[in-house]
Amino acid sequence: MGRKFFVGGNWKCNGTSDEIKKIISTLNAGQVPSQDVVEVVVSPPFVFLPLVKNELRPDFHVAAQNCWVKKGGAFTGEVSAEMLVNLSIPWVILGHSERRALLGESNEFVGDKVAYALSQGLKVIACVGETLEQRESGSTMDVVAAQTKAIADLVKDWTNVVIAYEPVWAIGTGKVATPAQAQEVHAELRKWLQANVSAEVAASTRIIYGGSVSGANCKELAGQPDVDGFLVGGASLKPEFIDIIKAAE
Ligand code: PGA
Repeated sequence: MGRKFFVGGNWKCNGTSDEIKKIISTLNAGQVPSQDVVEVVVSPPFVFLPLVKNELRPDFHVAAQNCWVKKGGAFTGEVSAEMLVNLSIPWVILGHSERRALLGESNEFVGDKVAYALSQGLKVIACVGETLEQRESGSTMDVVAAQTKAIADLVKDWTNVVIAYEPVWAIGTGKVATPAQAQEVHAELRKWLQANVSAEVAASTRIIYGGSVSGANCKELAGQPDVDGFLVGGASLKPEFIDIIKAAE
C-alpha cells in the first residue's frame, strides 16, 4: 500500500530558546531509520519555527501548530498560511482537540482551515478524536466521521493530508488507547474514506495515532495494520522521541 510511516512531535506551548536548542541537539544526534522508511515532522510554537527550521537536521521537517482560516489581513494575533509558505514551513497541524475544546473550533471551521492551508501548498496533519463521554456513549465513530466529513466536503486531493486520530481521553493523561482500540478506529476511519471519498484515498492516506504515545508503548501500536505512525505530545520533548521514531523499523 506504500504508506510511509509518519512520526510527528507536537511541542504544544512549551519551551524556552535554550530548551528548544537542547531538544534539537538530541534530535540531531539521534540514530533513526532513513527518510525512505519514516517521515519525521516536529512542531514547535510559532516563535521558534525559524530557529528550529535552521538548526534541525535536514531529514526532519517542521510544522506549525495552527494557521488562520483564510488569507491574512486584519486578524490580530493570527498567523496566515501564506506566512508559513513564505518561511518554507512545509506542514501545519490543524484541528487539534485542545483548539477544538478550548478555542471553540468547530468541525466546519477546521474543514475550512484544512482546505485553505492545502490550497496554499501546505501539508496538513488534521486531528480528529472523541471525548471520553462520547466514547462511553458509543458515539466514537459518529464523532470521528463527522469531523472527517467536514474536511472531506471541501478537500478533493488528499495527497498532502495525514489524519491524526487522537482520542481526547488519551491526550496528556498517560492513558493510552490499547492497540486494539486504536486499530478499531483507524480501520473504521479507513472504511469511511473508502465509502465516502475513494478506495484510492482510503488505501494511501496515512492515519496516525496520538494520545500518550511513549517509548514503551509505541512498538505494539505500530504493529497494528492501520496505524501508520504517531502524533506525539509530551514524549516528543524528551530523548525517548528517538525511540518512537524507531518504531518504524
Ligand atoms: P500526548 O499528546 O502525547 O502528550 O498525549 C498528544 C497530542 O496532543 O498530540
